Amino acid sequence: MADERELATIRGRIERAQQVMARQGVDYLFVTPSPDLVYLLDYPAHASERMTLLAVPRSGQPLILAPELEAPRLEEKRSLLAIHPWGETQQPAQLAANLLPNLNGATIAISDVTWAVFLLRLMQAMPQARFVPGDTVLRELRMVKDAQELEYLRIASQRTDQVWQATLDRVPFVGQSETMVAAQMTELMAEFGLAGPEFLIVASGPNSASPHHITGARVIQPGDAVVIDFGGRYHHYVSDLTRTVHVGEPSDEFRRVYETVLRANEAAFAATRPGAECQAVDRAARTVIADAGYGDYFIHRVGHGIGVDVHEEPYMVEGNTQTLAPGMVYTDEPGIYLPGRFGVRIEDVVVVTERGAEKYNHAGRTLTVVE
Ligand code: ZN
Ligand code: ZN
Ligand code: ZN
Repeated sequence: MADERELATIRGRIERAQQVMARQGVDYLFVTPSPDLVYLLDYPAHASERMTLLAVPRSGQPLILAPELEAPRLEEKRSLLAIHPWGETQQPAQLAANLLPNLNGATIAISDVTWAVFLLRLMQAMPQARFVPGDTVLRELRMVKDAQELEYLRIASQRTDQVWQATLDRVPFVGQSETMVAAQMTELMAEFGLAGPEFLIVASGPNSASPHHITGARVIQPGDAVVIDFGGRYHHYVSDLTRTVHVGEPSDEFRRVYETVLRANEAAFAATRPGAECQAVDRAARTVIADAGYGDYFIHRVGHGIGVDVHEEPYMVEGNTQTLAPGMVYTDEPGIYLPGRFGVRIEDVVVVTERGAEKYNHAGRTLTVVE
């Protein structure tokens, strides 16, 4: 149940969205089931063929159109918005057009991940309106986390660290397939109160050189590097941790690569402070890896913002001049991937503080040999 404090948090987010709308000349913000809806209303709704639509006007009370069968879930938000359930034979896009005043010439920001079919129906029902990306309004809000969000993210990361430690303590690697390791980690997530997995990559041997490998049937063998990248949710907020282990004694080259990635991870963290540009964080890690001669094998940006989405603004990438501010949370995840051989990635969630930065993940980073 939503208590008064939670309702006040939601009300504050809607008001801040309305302030941004006024500044950007946006008349309505449309939000369909998505991380945007979780952020703005703390309402995780089913994304389905039945349209749910939150419409926030530039000023005044928002309204939500919801399938009649899901409307009871909105009862606890009644003090925040007008609730309009629609029945199975009605057309919600047309209903929205009838309910909302002043659509003629209106600028409507709509959630980036709204299903195309809903946008098409809305455009047809509101031919005189102009649609722009919802990012216009929500980007700057979602990028800087409030105290409540930071608490959820911190707890999600803590539990993820616990799952990782339990994996090292209890899960055998040699002779098990990637899928079997993933299944045992999934059980550990439930044990430590982390919903999900939201994603779980177990990449062994040559597969570890593929950053977004799909966990599969390969059986883990002595001599393998194993990259494990996973995240789950605590109160809708996601975690994202990567550790790389080695099965049996590693070669000198593996040690050199591991050591380089670890130094790059530290360098990105050290470059994090309010006022620094996102691209400076990427450069700090990339310089370390390039200087060690592996520049061509670091094939992705060093990190991404994280919140109700696994990947969200701000992105730590060359060319992004966005400056860091306290409350921004992102991942620090450099990697080196030698095709056909092995890969190494080390990833932590980091929060920008008033003075610098703090890590939310504390799982060990020294080279770990497993069996
Ligand atoms: Zn990724
Ligand atoms: Zn990750
Ligand atoms: Zn990540």
